[in-house]
Amino acid sequence: MELERFIRDIPDFPKQGIVFKDITPLLADPRALSAAADQLAQPYASLGVAAVAGIESRGFIFGSLVAQRLGAGFVPIRKPGKLPYKTLRESYQLEYGTDAVEIHCDAVAKGQKVLLVDDLLATGGTMSAACKLVRKLGGQIVGVAFVIELCFLHGRDKLKDYPLHVLVQVASE
Ligand code: AMP
Repeated sequence: MELERFIRDIPDFPKQGIVFKDITPLLADPRALSAAADQLAQPYASLGVAAVAGIESRGFIFGSLVAQRLGAGFVPIRKPGKLPYKTLRESYQLEYGTDAVEIHCDAVAKGQKVLLVDDLLATGGTMSAACKLVRKLGGQIVGVAFVIELCFLHGRDKLKDYPLHVLVQVASE
């Protein structure tokens, strides 16, 4: 199924100059949503994935669906201050300033096979930080998967250590 037609461009959101990729039309269509989850999970079907880590917040939606398909558990990776138990934090560089993500310190067991999922790969900073958290806990990363890649931002250069799987590639702005 062609998923491109379920992704809507919103110019100048959340700020001037950004073209926001709105996936709510895809979420609203049962067949497109199910196809996206199937396609995200497919390469990992026989790899023994124990946990799928999804990045707040749209990564939670796709990550949970993928976890169900793989018979795996789900691990939330969240913005700072949102997780209630003991956490590990990893900061990363933005164009202006820094941001950070957190994981519960007992979310992944040593040697556990983990797949990380987010809706969109832009500069790669968020996913790269998320991968560092999983590795700090001793998780074995079997892959990183996205619905959309903004190829012109070269985010995959930050994720060279991991097999990368993307459903929809956007070549130019
Ligand atoms: P980055 O760390 O630059 O790869 O940014 C990835 C994160 O920011 C993902 O969680 C995306 O949901 C969000 N994001 C970045 N750029 C966009 C965009 N143009 N449209 C929608 N979401 C975006």
